[in-house]
Amino acid sequence: MVLTLDQPSAAPEAALPADKPSLAGLGREGLRVALAEAGVPEKHLRMRVNQLYSWLYVRGVADFEAMTDVAKELRAELGRRYTLARPQIVTEQVSVDGTRKWLLRLPSLGRGGKAPEIETVYIPEAERGTLCISSQVGCTLNCTFCHTGTQRLVRNLTAQEIVGQILLARDRIGDWGLPKAGKETGAELPDDGRLLPTRETRATSTTDRKITNIVLMGMGEPLYNFDNVKAAMELAADGEALSVSKRRITLSTSGIVPEIARWGAETGTSLAISLHAVRDELRDELVPINRKYPIAELLEACRNYPVLSNARRITFEYVMLKGVNDSLAEARELVRLLAGIPAKINLIPFNPWPGAPYECSDWEQIERFAEVVNKAGYASPVRTPRGRDIHAACGQLRSESVKQRASERVAATEVPSSGDGA
Ligand code: SAH
Ligand code: SF4
Repeated sequence: MVLTLDQPSAAPEAALPADKPSLAGLGREGLRVALAEAGVPEKHLRMRVNQLYSWLYVRGVADFEAMTDVAKELRAELGRRYTLARPQIVTEQVSVDGTRKWLLRLPSLGRGGKAPEIETVYIPEAERGTLCISSQVGCTLNCTFCHTGTQRLVRNLTAQEIVGQILLARDRIGDWGLPKAGKETGAELPDDGRLLPTRETRATSTTDRKITNIVLMGMGEPLYNFDNVKAAMELAADGEALSVSKRRITLSTSGIVPEIARWGAETGTSLAISLHAVRDELRDELVPINRKYPIAELLEACRNYPVLSNARRITFEYVMLKGVNDSLAEARELVRLLAGIPAKINLIPFNPWPGAPYECSDWEQIERFAEVVNKAGYASPVRTPRGRDIHAACGQLRSESVKQRASERVAATEVPSSGDGA
C-alpha cells in the first residue's frame, strides 16, 4: 500500500508566501544578520544567536513563541519579520517498507518561471535510518542511466534549503529526540510510523535518533555546489546543532576529481563514488564526466582521500545494467582496480524510468557478479531496492513530478489561453 498525503499547504504556486523570509536552515552568520536587522544590539548578538541556533537545531522549534528564554518583545519582533518555515511539502508518500518520500517546492529565487521541486527520501532500516538529500535542482551532468540527468539544471540549492530538508524530515518522523518535541514545536507527528527503527531494533546504534545517516545521493552533483553543501553539512555535523556524525554523512559524486581532495580536507565526511564501469571507453558513455576525469585519475584521488582507513572505507557504487557492464570479467576487473583502496562495493539494481535506454541485469547475473565481488572480501555488495512502490529509489527521483508536469502541459494546451504554454 502506498500512502500519499496531499498536504494542505500544497497551495497553487502563485500563493507562495514571498514576503517574510524563513530563518530555518540558516547558519550562525545568517542568524546574526537577521537578528541585527531585527534590532538586537551588537553586545547581545552572540548570546541571541546561540539561543536561536539551539532552539532551531537541537529542539527543532518551528515557532518563535516556543523560545521561552528569548524576551517576549523580541519574539514578537522576530515573528513580524521572519518565519521558521521549512521547504513547502507538495506530497508525502510512505512505502510499504516504511520508506518516505517528500516532494518539496522551493522558491524560484527571482529567476521567474515555475517554482522548482526537489525530492528527499528517508529509508528506515533495523540498525540505522538514512536520509537521502538533494543538492541541486536537476543536474548539469548527463549520465545516461540517470533520470535526473535528463533534466536540465535549474539551480543550486542554497545551504538553507539543504538543511531545510533535514529539518523537515525530522519534523515529519518526529525525530527531535526530546519527549515533548512534537507538542512544543507544533510539528505534526505521523501516526503511521511502521518499520521506523526503535531503540530495541537498533542494537548497534548508540543514539535513539531515527535519522542516523545522511547521504548526498538525491538530485544533483554535490561537488558542483561545493560551498553550499559544505555549509549545510557543517551545520548537520555540528554538535551544537543537528549532531549527525561526520562519518555517517556520505557525499556521493560522479567523480569531480579536483574537488574530491578539497572536500575531504575541508569536511572529513565519508565518500561514495559512482563508478559504474571499469573501462574508460564504457565509463565515457555512462558517466560522461569521465572524459574529463578518467578512471585512473579518479582512483588516484580516492587513494589520497584524507579520511581513509579500514574503518572509513570509500563506497563504490556500481549500477547493474543488463548486457552493458555486468559480465563476470568486469566483476573481476572491478575487484582488481580497487585493490589497495579501503573500499565497500555497492551493486545497485538499475531502476528503470520511462524511456530509459537500459534494463536491469537479471537477478541471477547480479548474484553471480556479487559472488565474484564477495569472494574478493567485500561483504553484502547488493543494495536492496527500497521504496520502489513510491519511486523513491536512486535515479528515480522526481519521475512522478515530471509526469505530472507533462499532464499539466496537456491540460494547459487543452484549455485555450489558460496556460503559459511552457
Ligand atoms: N550526482 C551524484 C549523486 C546523486 S546520484 C552521483 O552521481 O554520485 C546517486 C546515485 O544513484 C549514484 O550512484 C547514481 O549513479 C545512482 N543512480 C542514478 N540513476 C540510477 C538508476 N536509474 N538506477 C540506479 N542507480 C542510479
Ligand atoms: Fe547527475 Fe549523479 Fe545523475 Fe550523473 S548520476 S546525472 S552526476 S545526479
